[in-house]
Amino acid sequence: MSRLIVVSNRVNPPADPGLGSTGGLAMALAAALREYSGVWFGWSGETTEHFTGQIRMQRVGGVTIALVDLEEQDRLEYYNGYANKTLWPLFHYRTDLTSYERSFDEGYARVNRRFAETLVPLLEPDDLIWVHDYHLIPMARELRKLGVKNRIGFFLHIPWPARRLLTTLPKHRALVETLFDYDVIGFQTEDNREAFEDYVIHEAHGSVAGPGRLTAFDHTVQVDSFPIGIDAQGFIEAAKSDEATQQFDRMQTSLAGRRMVLGVDRLDYSKGLEERFLAYEQFLIDHPEQQEDVFLLQIATPSRDEVEAYQEIRHRLDGVAGRINGEFATVDWVPIRYVNRGYRRDQLAGIYRAADVALVTPLRDGMNLVAKEFVAAQDPEDPGVLILSRFAGAADQMTDAVLVNPFSREDMSDAIRRALAMPLTKRRMRWERLLEGVKRDDVNAWRDRFVAALRGPPPEAANGDKP
Ligand code: ADP
Repeated sequence: MSRLIVVSNRVNPPADPGLGSTGGLAMALAAALREYSGVWFGWSGETTEHFTGQIRMQRVGGVTIALVDLEEQDRLEYYNGYANKTLWPLFHYRTDLTSYERSFDEGYARVNRRFAETLVPLLEPDDLIWVHDYHLIPMARELRKLGVKNRIGFFLHIPWPARRLLTTLPKHRALVETLFDYDVIGFQTEDNREAFEDYVIHEAHGSVAGPGRLTAFDHTVQVDSFPIGIDAQGFIEAAKSDEATQQFDRMQTSLAGRRMVLGVDRLDYSKGLEERFLAYEQFLIDHPEQQEDVFLLQIATPSRDEVEAYQEIRHRLDGVAGRINGEFATVDWVPIRYVNRGYRRDQLAGIYRAADVALVTPLRDGMNLVAKEFVAAQDPEDPGVLILSRFAGAADQMTDAVLVNPFSREDMSDAIRRALAMPLTKRRMRWERLLEGVKRDDVNAWRDRFVAALRGPPPEAANGDKP
């Protein structure tokens, strides 16, 4: 059987599968690599004065990892720069926060080249190479330049933006051209796949070469949507663990009979946190009779704090949460509990279980795994209600959630009222259907579908021969 070589910016399999780490990607990839033999290759997160290209091989949590250090300039121009100041905001529809700097382009190209040069000596001829996310779009181009003939696939975890937005990126065509060195390109949703096709046809003068196949720049690639899932079974178990039960009991005590609306996110401007706080404030204004019966617990783990836009949003959220609390709090009730730390996966499961309502309201999100985890953690006897943004990839699958427009405070205020008032039979019916989808379309299904596409058709089918 071919080995699977996973390539991503950071390599962080959880040492203990129960613990988890921030970012949905790590859990998903570790689960994939435990089943297939192979290697997970990427940046160690460390920097050295001069790039050496030396690889450190390790075994972590049943997974073989290969780490390479980068230079400080790489971190600034590639990671903080092109990845997180250019592509991330642009692909999340925030041209107002997007920096277009030539030094970032150079850093991005340099790191992709360095990754390719470092990976090549590890490769065997029939390895399947699976490259992840926006940090590494040109990786296949660099590998092909070095003579790599293996099948290479790319999966984009974040949204693919509309054509008009992408064309604001200098050298957008050159970036898209590099994608045509892959054999398979995967997106989270059909909507993203269509946006890509639209770009290829109208900007790259490409064409549809058959079902799921696009031709441009003299290459044909297979393009499909592969919505990512969670380790559903693992999460359901985690929600029943002692740690989860303890956390659940602790939450129940602290609820003191009140209803809890919950948000859990990385602290990122794409997650719509400020809009969420303001919508919740609108709910408090619209329904003064419910004020002291409800509170919002928002857990927001700081991330990418070297990037100004993240310092800025953190500062703004401190201000908005403080203002709302100052305005509405009474001596024994605080409307927003705002927490800036991370929790273990099992603790998080207990917190999800204690919530009456989850507010998952990103302005734009590739998928959003919190929505799926929330569903997996619920008590079947008394499940909570999921309020989900239409602009999360998850909304395509989770149509039994209460879908909202996160840009409308009134819409969200109404949704909170409806969710809190939803009768048990309706909650159960919706939740059962959501859970069925979360279990069926889990991380294993996602991985297996992608890897099957990456393997390609069996040789006889490719030749059109009958067996
Ligand atoms: P993103 O990948 O953009 O952060 P996702 O919702 O897809 O968004 O994935 C977030 C992952 O990070 C989930 O698995 C979630 O459990 C985890 N996570 C988010 N916030 C926290 C937190 N405060 N503590 C622990 N885990 C968190």
